[in-house]
Amino acid sequence: MTMNVSLRDLYQEMILDHGKNPRNVGYLSGATHCQSGHNPLCGDRLTLYVEADHEVIKQIKFEGSGCAISMASASLMTEMIKDKSFTDIFQLFSLFHDMLTKDIVIDEVTLDKLTVFAGVKEFPMRVKCATLAWHTLKAALLKSETLVSTENEEQTDAS
Ligand code: ZN
Repeated sequence: MTMNVSLRDLYQEMILDHGKNPRNVGYLSGATHCQSGHNPLCGDRLTLYVEADHEVIKQIKFEGSGCAISMASASLMTEMIKDKSFTDIFQLFSLFHDMLTKDIVIDEVTLDKLTVFAGVKEFPMRVKCATLAWHTLKAALLKSETLVSTENEEQTDAS
């Protein structure tokens, strides 16, 4: 995918904005699912608090620290998944992961704001920053008890 310069600038602005002022930060007392994740290659850490009802997300908040990409990704994720079913979320993560790792046509309608991370594909080290929140969310929804690490992707995906 090629982007013109102005569009790329806009995307970077959105990542910087969410990275500096992440949405939905905090602790959720009514959480039904909770999970921590860690990307040791960059030092990104976060904990997700999810309140779900009949496998639909009602509320989500997160606490954490890390680079702008990891925080922006977590922030945008929390904005996008409210009122979505677990099944829809797993499909969205799959599309998002493919966009960051494969040469495919990007489904811009479904990915919506997540397309701001399309440029991350050119920086393989940063893919883990962009996907940490999603790996952690998937583990939370699957009720995995272990600490999520981007260095255990195979194990996480197999569960
Ligand atoms: Zn990072």
